[in-house]
Amino acid sequence: MRKVDNLIIGGGICGRLLQLQLQKEGKSTLVYDSPVPNHCTAVAAGLANPLVGKFFTIGWRADEIFPPLADYYASLEKQLNASFFRSVGFKRIISSAGEQNIWLSKAHKSKYAGFCSFENEQIEGLNTSFGVLNIKQGGEMDTIAFLNACDQFLPTQKEDFNWHNLDVLAHTYDGLYFDKLIFTEGYKITENPLLKTLVKIVPTKGELLTIETDLEPKNTIYLGAVFLQHLIGKTWRVGSTYNQNDSSLNPTTANREDLINKLDKVLNTSYVVKSHYCGVRPASIDRKPILGEHPAYAGVYVVNGMGSKAVSLAPLLISEMVDFMYGRATLNETVNLLRF
Ligand SMILES: Cc1cc2nc3c(=O)[nH]c(=O)nc-3n(C[C@H](O)[C@H](O)[C@H](O)COP(=O)(O)OP(=O)(O)OC[C@H]3O[C@@H](n4cnc5c(N)ncnc54)[C@H](O)[C@@H]3O)c2cc1C
Repeated sequence: MRKVDNLIIGGGICGRLLQLQLQKEGKSTLVYDSPVPNHCTAVAAGLANPLVGKFFTIGWRADEIFPPLADYYASLEKQLNASFFRSVGFKRIISSAGEQNIWLSKAHKSKYAGFCSFENEQIEGLNTSFGVLNIKQGGEMDTIAFLNACDQFLPTQKEDFNWHNLDVLAHTYDGLYFDKLIFTEGYKITENPLLKTLVKIVPTKGELLTIETDLEPKNTIYLGAVFLQHLIGKTWRVGSTYNQNDSSLNPTTANREDLINKLDKVLNTSYVVKSHYCGVRPASIDRKPILGEHPAYAGVYVVNGMGSKAVSLAPLLISEMVDFMYGRATLNETVNLLRF
């Protein structure tokens, strides 16, 4: 019988980063990934931003996550002979006097040092009269370039996982013996008969626009009511919406209008909408990732629940997951599947 150390179901960012980490440790791997177009990693803006939310929150474990991020992705780029990640500055546009006051009440806190600083900067084409926060240590991933490199260089079976071929007790799948089986299916875990009741995923649809505008790209991502990410030439990506418990795969007129209304608050120069698309995030009910081993089936694992932050969260968490799988460490309780 053919054998593999790790059979991974799902070839989005989680499945692929896990596969890369396991390969680095000398384990054999095989990823099954549905041949239908990926609806999350492939549409993601790929932003890794340490300052999140309305109240200027430094993201969970940001001190551990962000300093090594660029080197981590650079080493994967070398391994995959591809280019898909770059460090980039973010400017968070302060939208009102009220928001400015919130920032001023927090600005003295030491946790912001190294991550952001206020500037009374006017940026042509943007409504920046209340100033901006310059955010450091961020980055952006070209997720399609990453997925393409993985498809090309890593052991991959481009087909749907067929549940009828799995014997979970014997650790076999379609004539293949596996030591460990790891599910990284994104929001599709809601259809997984072994895990769907244990892994509390909330499918959260997000819609994006691409626009053309003369706004000058300054190697910066702008964050306001929507984000503005320069792609190429005059093309920018604008996003995104959040619709919980929605896994429909068609963009809607209502969300297009919502994005345009928000864009008009940030951008004060003309633009033309060129495209409109969507994907479904695997969010969790407590907004923390979900990792761990199935309580009833030894050797069956899950990595999921990255919400809108896979590019920044997944590298650290997947490294911790592999330590857990090979008995070198316990899992961080905040992300452990067994917390539910
Ligand atoms: C609009 C939008 C914008 C986003 N922007 C960002 C951003 O800027 N930064 C960021 O970090 N994150 C962002 N995200 C979130 C990010 O895309 C997700 O956190 C991430 O893609 C989740 O990765 P995953 O590997 O868990 O799941 P997925 O990317 O969904 O991958 C799962 C894979 O498993 C496959 N699969 C599922 N079931 C099966 C099966 N039975 N058999 C075979 N294959 C299967 C699927 O086809 C898919 O390829 C965004 C998401 C959206 C929707």
